[in-house]
Amino acid sequence: MPIRKESATDFARLLEASRSAAALSGAGCSTNAGLADFRGAKGLYNSGKYDPQKLFDIDEFLKEPGYFYDFARDFTQQFKKIKPTFTHHFFSALEKTGKLKGIITQNIDALHQKAGSVNVVELHGSFWTSRCMSCAREYSYSEMEPKILSAEVPRCGCGVVIKPDIVFYGEGVKRLGESVKLACESDLFIIIGSSLEVYPAAAIPDSAYGKIVLVNKGPVNIKAERLSLNISDDLDDFFMAVADELQLSV
Ligand SMILES: [Zn+2]
Repeated sequence: MPIRKESATDFARLLEASRSAAALSGAGCSTNAGLADFRGAKGLYNSGKYDPQKLFDIDEFLKEPGYFYDFARDFTQQFKKIKPTFTHHFFSALEKTGKLKGIITQNIDALHQKAGSVNVVELHGSFWTSRCMSCAREYSYSEMEPKILSAEVPRCGCGVVIKPDIVFYGEGVKRLGESVKLACESDLFIIIGSSLEVYPAAAIPDSAYGKIVLVNKGPVNIKAERLSLNISDDLDDFFMAVADELQLSV
């Protein structure tokens, strides 16, 4: 039996036995969507165009928000084009069966929601909403898009800079308690497309007392003995094989 088929069968058996699964997704989950993995070879971190440390540093943002919004203009162009991948749709379908209780994500691209997932815990926030740094008025993405494209720095009606609800370096992650609870209550914890290099997301699997499975292309910062399954494969190809095995319509 080819390796992918064998791994997909093993994965499907674990899912069938699970009554309460949860997942954690990272940048690798969105690579096939055309959004460059920030840390990958072609990712923003390595493009040289922006310095990611400066880009997502809250002190830098407060000093010079224009630097961030130059990037945001680029990101917005990509954001319009990207669509959820098979993997995003797979996890949305799995949630509808009642088996998957929620998905924690390190991604800010809102692709899980676009695929129809409901319980999405965005640890690092997202571009979906933004907020005035003074009066806290909330702006939707559709309100922000024209502002990002036309103004050097989008400002609120009150005159103060608007900040997207993404988590910058120097800010605390969002909804960590809910993430830990999801992991803690799961009997199967699925890590997809994360190298677990960024804390505190990297520590969330420590709260999972049940089985842990990993699907990622490339090395991951987790002890191999904690894993019931360790799959290194293309995410979409792999989850297509799992969907076949489960006869899950995605
Ligand atoms: Zn305001």
